[in-house]
Amino acid sequence: MGNEHILEVKNLVVHYLTARGPLPAVNDVSFSIEKGRIVGVVGESGSGKTTLALAILRQLPRLTRIHKGSVMFYGIDLVKLSEKEMNEIRWKKISYVPQAALNALNPTMKIIDHFIETGNAHGINDKKLIVEKAVEIMKMLNLESERVLYGYPHELSGGMKQRVLIALSMIFEPELLILDEPTTALDLLTQRLILDLIKDLHRRTHMTVMFITHDIATIADIADDVIVMYAGKLMEKGDVFTVFKNPHHPYTKALMSSIPDLTGDINKMRSIPGSLPDLINPPSGCIFHPRCPYAFEKCKREEPPAVEIKPGHVVSCWLYSEQ
Ligand code: SF4
Repeated sequence: MGNEHILEVKNLVVHYLTARGPLPAVNDVSFSIEKGRIVGVVGESGSGKTTLALAILRQLPRLTRIHKGSVMFYGIDLVKLSEKEMNEIRWKKISYVPQAALNALNPTMKIIDHFIETGNAHGINDKKLIVEKAVEIMKMLNLESERVLYGYPHELSGGMKQRVLIALSMIFEPELLILDEPTTALDLLTQRLILDLIKDLHRRTHMTVMFITHDIATIADIADDVIVMYAGKLMEKGDVFTVFKNPHHPYTKALMSSIPDLTGDINKMRSIPGSLPDLINPPSGCIFHPRCPYAFEKCKREEPPAVEIKPGHVVSCWLYSEQ
């Protein structure tokens, strides 16, 4: 793999504006994504993963603002682009399949019309071209294009709808595809199918993928690199092999110990004690310290810096910092 960075996020801070004050849903997060890689972003619900994706796309909900930082996409800072310029990037260069999107398809429209409408919305009016592209992508996703394209959403299973949504997001061959919990609403067999299809699609197209999930076992299955987030902060990042073989951050270790062991006693599967902190009044020092079994005095006083403990492997924890 080359080292070209398609996306570089630096010191990104995203605030929810609440009656109690700004809530930093993403807090000083920095990472880069190499072209052609699948990068998994993992953390419990509320860790800031979706907010991070929506900030990259500049599609944040009401009363949510990028407070600081930059999002460089091929050297262009997306944070500074006008809405018109950003519209040229969304879908065409960076596309997004949102969480719980299975009901996003219009029940009164045939699938083919969803493709045509998406094409038209982004300036492509050549129906034949759009249909050809839709058929090509649907084939890669193992969908019978004739049947699916001329059917209605209610005629499709959950797995088929998810594949249609992925196909729709790929109609312009984006450089970066962001998938937000694409398997969460599906049964286990369909999850397996979708993961295999995404891997296959990636193998064929070499597109760059950001894959958001709360399930660290899925990351092991699909991703090349992993970013572990907790309470809006980056805890650990690195290539999947390195991080899974030797996880350093106590939160990464806790997530990994929550993976059920198929051959072991299911009762030994552990959940992480405690809950996410109040982000408006976060704990002092390391934000994970109230839940960390390794916490010591300094952790309660000072926030650990993100330290590159070896090339590409970054950990934010006093256990690995000499500072
Ligand atoms: Fe735990 Fe301290 Fe490391 Fe935070 S800095 S993860 S509290 S050991």
